[in-house]
Amino acid sequence: MTGSISTSPLVDIRDLSKSFGQGDARVDALRQINLQVYAGQVVGLLGPSGSGKSTLLNVIGCILDPSSGHMELDGQVVYDGGWRQKDLRRLRLDRIGFIFQFHNLLPFLNALENVAVVLEIAGASAEAARQRALELLQYLQVGHRCETMPSRLSGGEAQRVAIARALANHPRIILADEPTAALDSERAGVVMDLLRKVAAEQGAAVLVVTHDEKIFDRFDQMFYLRDGMLADMDGPHTKPNGLAQQH
Ligand code: ADP
Ligand code: MG
Repeated sequence: MTGSISTSPLVDIRDLSKSFGQGDARVDALRQINLQVYAGQVVGLLGPSGSGKSTLLNVIGCILDPSSGHMELDGQVVYDGGWRQKDLRRLRLDRIGFIFQFHNLLPFLNALENVAVVLEIAGASAEAARQRALELLQYLQVGHRCETMPSRLSGGEAQRVAIARALANHPRIILADEPTAALDSERAGVVMDLLRKVAAEQGAAVLVVTHDEKIFDRFDQMFYLRDGMLADMDGPHTKPNGLAQQH
């Protein structure tokens, strides 16, 4: 286990459900999910296509409305049968960092500007934003690429810039949807090591959706989603041979 584990989880979900549509068209994408993730933990979320992985990340990221249940983020009740925070946009900006499979960098801004822009949106001055963006890019070992446009970055570099952007506002909760799927195993390892470092050094909780067996050994704990239901990989029937031991 990396980092220190505090007693209260950064992500605390109880009986959380999410359905789409109504009547015959209804899809139960998440069914009574219970999940706790603590500071310093890097957690893997596995499961077949359509099992609800992205839906779960988007609910935790306050992008999708849950249908029922209870969710606390960083010690605050965020959802309890309805949203309990008025300004979800602010909550997302301050507490949550998102990383996607493809980096989603803005093509008309260079690497530094891509990071600085989210700091400015959160209220930093242009100068402070540039300074912090540069520090972050250096921390993620892409400082030498700060003036490069996204189209000229390698896949691994672009993903590290996207991680810098996700970290810009010191989020305690980092949500990554297949962040290494487009990378070779060496670059995937670098990205995962960086996420582990962030979890340990910044006391963040990191949730990573992945199919990528190359990175299974980087997780402190793995969960498996099937038909919207979550199982701990330590369960007797859910743990395939050869997977990393839960700590
Ligand atoms: P995964 O990321 O594990 O592939 P998703 O979370 O994207 O799975 O989807 C879970 C289920 O919810 C699937 O059956 C999918 O079709 C359905 N679903 C996801 N998003 C929507 C939506 N916006 N409207 C209707 N159904 C959706
Ligand atoms: Mg998905």
